[in-house]
Amino acid sequence: MNILDQHNRPLRDLRISVTDRCNFRCHYCMPAEVFGPNYEFLKKNMLLSFEEITRLAKLFRKRAGIKKLRITGGEPLMRRDLPVLISQLSSIEGIEDIAMTTNGSLLPKFADQLKNAGLDRVTISLDTLDDERFKKINGRDVSVETVLKGIEAAKAAGLSIKMNMVVQKGVNDEDIIPMAKYFRQQGHILRFIEYMDVGNSNGWKMDDVFSKKEIINRINDVMPIEPIQPNYTGEVATRYRYVDSDDEIGIISSVTDAFCSACNRSRLSAEGKLYTCLFSVKGHDLRGPLRNGYSDEEMMNLIDNIWSHRTDRYSEERTHHTKRKTKVEMSHIGG
Ligand code: SAM
Ligand code: SF4
Ligand code: SF4
Repeated sequence: MNILDQHNRPLRDLRISVTDRCNFRCHYCMPAEVFGPNYEFLKKNMLLSFEEITRLAKLFRKRAGIKKLRITGGEPLMRRDLPVLISQLSSIEGIEDIAMTTNGSLLPKFADQLKNAGLDRVTISLDTLDDERFKKINGRDVSVETVLKGIEAAKAAGLSIKMNMVVQKGVNDEDIIPMAKYFRQQGHILRFIEYMDVGNSNGWKMDDVFSKKEIINRINDVMPIEPIQPNYTGEVATRYRYVDSDDEIGIISSVTDAFCSACNRSRLSAEGKLYTCLFSVKGHDLRGPLRNGYSDEEMMNLIDNIWSHRTDRYSEERTHHTKRKTKVEMSHIGG
């Protein structure tokens, strides 16, 4: 049932972006100067419908044995009626876990409906507890309080919660300790993400990266940590625990300690392109074949063919390569 790529990596994980729109303008992802009032987002008929997404998820399940799905964006909660999609996906036989990555701002409105529809987990992104800095980062004057209310709502709904923090040198590295202390006390695992050169708009420079090593040292100085075993092969975050406790953090070090050799993730964009790497230059169109009447067997052969030709290992090669010019935008495939 497994499909293997050119480096023998199985296809295990499907991440589904449901919209390219977002109510934030984080400067590392959708800088307001680029994603301004004249930016052309995908039109409604270009988006995969819920039925098309569900059919694809079923076929990924059937051909590749996928058990876990992650819904992302843009901001996934900007997609109208998202709980309807969640309930369609959760009724697929063999899908055991559905997670969503969100900026948290709309969770007070949707958390209960999402949980009732079958969502299991949320990863909520928050880069600082400092209101002024957060407003600058999200580009839309959204307060920290808004996201904290989202976290509360997710907790009250019974969703399991993890936190994501993108760390940028000189922007929010001073927030590492306050964030670590706060979420340790709240009982939520916080994952620190190295700032990545995704897309073409964020003006990424290596100098802006606060490395995994620097993050570890910073935390160790205040609250000693030790590495722990991964939960499963291909887990992107390396896990640490505060010494003498069960409290845990994670570090996602795509830049300074790449993990391509275990990367088993595929990414479906909102317009139905399949990307085999976060840094892909182009995606493989699945919407055309879906709308042109391909049978299930033909669709599965297509997926098989795309994955089995996969050679991506961008992060491992990054230091030896000139930077790619036209990579897919993060807001199209959602991290
Ligand atoms: N809007 C949702 C959110 O922010 O959680 C989901 C989509 S967002 C693209 C998914 C994740 O990618 C977020 O945790 C975000 O912080 C992270 N991200 C975006 N741009 C990034 C970058 N340049 N480097 C590292 N992580 C990034
Ligand atoms: Fe929106 Fe998420 Fe990108 Fe921020 S990181 S702009 S919240 S999609
Ligand atoms: Fe996977 Fe591409 Fe990231 Fe490597 S660079 S871990 S292949 S998504």
